[in-house]
Amino acid sequence: SPLSGAKRPRLTFLGTGYLGATYAICFAEMGYRVIGFDVDVDKIARLANGTLPFHEPGLENLLRRNLAAGRLQFSTNLAQIAEFGDVHFICVGTPQRADGMGADLSYVEAAVTGLSQNLTRKALIVGKSTVPVGTVEWVEQLVSKNAPADLGIEVAWSPEFLQEGFAVDDVLRPNRIVIGVKTEWAKDMLHATHKGVLDLAAAEGRTVPLMVTDFATAELVKVAANAFLATKISFINAMAEVCEVAGGDVVQLAQAIGYDPRIGNRFLQAGVGFGGGCLPKDIRAFQARAQELGVGDALRFLHEVDLINLRCRPRVMRLAAELLGRSGPAGPDLSGTRIAVLGATFKPNSDDVRDAPALAVAALLAKSGSDVRVYDPQGMENARVVQPKLTYAPTLNDAVRSADLVCVLTEWAEFRESDPYVLGTLVASRRVVDGRNCLDSARWMKAGWQYRGMGRS
Ligand code: NAD
Repeated sequence: SPLSGAKRPRLTFLGTGYLGATYAICFAEMGYRVIGFDVDVDKIARLANGTLPFHEPGLENLLRRNLAAGRLQFSTNLAQIAEFGDVHFICVGTPQRADGMGADLSYVEAAVTGLSQNLTRKALIVGKSTVPVGTVEWVEQLVSKNAPADLGIEVAWSPEFLQEGFAVDDVLRPNRIVIGVKTEWAKDMLHATHKGVLDLAAAEGRTVPLMVTDFATAELVKVAANAFLATKISFINAMAEVCEVAGGDVVQLAQAIGYDPRIGNRFLQAGVGFGGGCLPKDIRAFQARAQELGVGDALRFLHEVDLINLRCRPRVMRLAAELLGRSGPAGPDLSGTRIAVLGATFKPNSDDVRDAPALAVAALLAKSGSDVRVYDPQGMENARVVQPKLTYAPTLNDAVRSADLVCVLTEWAEFRESDPYVLGTLVASRRVVDGRNCLDSARWMKAGWQYRGMGRS
């Protein structure tokens, strides 16, 4: 066999961002020999030195341990990874295209083309990036155009469901593995590749479903899952809008409907909505692809899901203006006020600020004239790049000092667990907008705060 051993295939990961770096490190942890590859020279240098270029709980320790064990390397050399790998995972970004709603596949194209041109032996190329349905066939064409035909390079797709903040556990202990394949050989290779995950599950008395599908289903599973999650969040945020005018309480409403196991209580937290590098772009790209396929009507509801989500951001601003007594007929005028914005990342336990609702709201408040101070436990460095004009405070206390209003926009434990009595001594006046419904409202009100949540009268 031209392979280095199908029992323990050697793995490469092209793209060492949130997805690829986490995968490379966790698979090394399971005993595989791994190389992570990226075109970003700085990122590769930091990883090779044992420094994680982003925040992910528990991951940096694993990085150091596996570098030291010699199982894990990082490289910017395509020829090296082409020679090394039995299975090459494509983990590059697929952002929203600048000219519209669809996915930008130029990074996938560059990675697959570059790899193919360097291959010298049979290997499997596995897509992990989130892509529009139909991409695998296009990748196969790229491979056959660029790789020597006699090598018999094959392509498969295995979508990824990891959540930032829980990424290590999600990779080591996924709730399912989906592999889209065309041949028995590709299936066997991916089985061998995931043996570490399956063995770990068996050792812990769990099972991990491994679903073998066709290409289209594998590609669609990912976008369908994200469409469902986005819909669930927007559903409860729509209920919050209704509660706000009808005088209901969406927190109780969510709890009550969530007792029905058909509905379930997870992902039903009303707030400032979803963001990040996945859900917003994925539901837009899914709609664009459905339109291309002539089934745009089937996904029209995702447009509403997107609109409900985007409406959450001005709703927070209106709540802030109301609480400050600044909502005028021509829109809020927040000039002369100082607002502390707590949170910049799109969710806690991550430093990811891509399409983060918290930063969008901070910018809206600043645009309405408020002197805004933003604080986030992990996202400040990235936030400064995305919103350089905002003012950042080095600590929570610095952010809230002399504020007329505090806005909690990411549900970090540091904010949930902060003491409203202590913070009350620092602010100019005790007003809080809980944009994530994550604070103990009774406790804050007892400490003298005027409290407004999302969808709570
Ligand atoms: P990211 O931006 O953090 O990482 C992408 C990496 O690809 C960057 O380091 C970039 O330098 C590198 N890259 C670009 N061109 C390259 C090339 N030609 N060769 C090698 N590397 C190249 O993005 P991410 O969050 O890791 O997401 C990657 C993909 O995974 C996306 O399709 C995303 O939708 C999907 N995904 C992400 C998550 C998540 O939680 N972040 C979860 C599931 C799926």
